[in-house]
Amino acid sequence: MPEIPPLDTPPPHYQCVRCGNCCRWPGDVNVTGSEVTAIATFLGREESEFVENCTRLNANRTGLSIIDKPNGECLFLAGTNTCLIQSVKPLQCSGFPNVWNFPGWRDKCEAVEV
Ligand code: SF4
Ligand code: SF4
Repeated sequence: MPEIPPLDTPPPHYQCVRCGNCCRWPGDVNVTGSEVTAIATFLGREESEFVENCTRLNANRTGLSIIDKPNGECLFLAGTNTCLIQSVKPLQCSGFPNVWNFPGWRDKCEAVEV
């Protein structure tokens, strides 16, 4: 018979090991208005120029997404695992996989349970 954990068992926490996989898989990297401001400021770029050259309409047409490079990885991924906007990266990035994830995420993300 399987062991049933107590109801107050906290959910596991996963620590990112910076494999960079989530920066390479297809899909939107959504950015809010305040994140656009923060990233443009961090990069020393005009917000309108940043929006024009670094973002696109997201798939469900509700907001902006950072564009991909021709090879499909995020525009701000350098090498295999360096985020060029690490300190101001969108909540979508910093929240994965603990704040949000998707069915089957464990097969694609190398984060370790701590
Ligand atoms: S913004 Fe940074 S953390 Fe987010 S997908 Fe792009 S490279 Fe990865
Ligand atoms: S896929 Fe998981 S372990 Fe790899 S960088 Fe993204 S969050 Fe971190």
